[in-house]
Amino acid sequence: MKIAVCPGSFDPVTNGHVDIFERASSMYDRLIIAVFRNPGKNPLFNMEDRVRLLKQATQHIPNVEVDSFSGLLTDFVLQKDSRIIVRGLRALSDFEYEFQRALLIKCVRPEIETVFMMTSSEYSFVSSSGIKELAQFGGDISKLVPPMLYDEITQRCRELAARKTL
Ligand code: ADP
Repeated sequence: MKIAVCPGSFDPVTNGHVDIFERASSMYDRLIIAVFRNPGKNPLFNMEDRVRLLKQATQHIPNVEVDSFSGLLTDFVLQKDSRIIVRGLRALSDFEYEFQRALLIKCVRPEIETVFMMTSSEYSFVSSSGIKELAQFGGDISKLVPPMLYDEITQRCRELAARKTL
């Protein structure tokens, strides 16, 4: 059974992520979306919310599951009986970071392969941070996030904006 792990912050999940999940899930028997618990970052959505939003956004993909992890990604991947990490790639700026990261992973765990999937052109500019910024200032993010999550993401971003102006 081929199991792949798709790690990330997903703060929050976007249509760009869902596109990668849909395409990657057709290549593997199981795709595990792994939400990274990063104490250094100050996320808009806490871990439980990010997992819940991802579950809602991937309900239509039968072989996808959502999990979370802290610590080393390589340990998580091996624990799940996987040897494959899937990452999405947008622009050159992603490449630099992802290239270094993949080589680091190869250095510590040569048995794990990082596989890159090119973004679809319609999502090449979509990022969680861009969405948060746009929604905070009242921009329309309806084409950028899964429809069932639109209200919750928009509301949370507006609450954040309101708190900043206090
Ligand atoms: P991280 O904090 O690990 O970069 P993200 O949640 O920002 O996590 O992204 C998770 C993965 O999804 C990364 O591999 C990232 O490059 C990819 N990704 C993000 N947005 C897009 C997009 N619009 N198209 C394709 N891949 C994307």
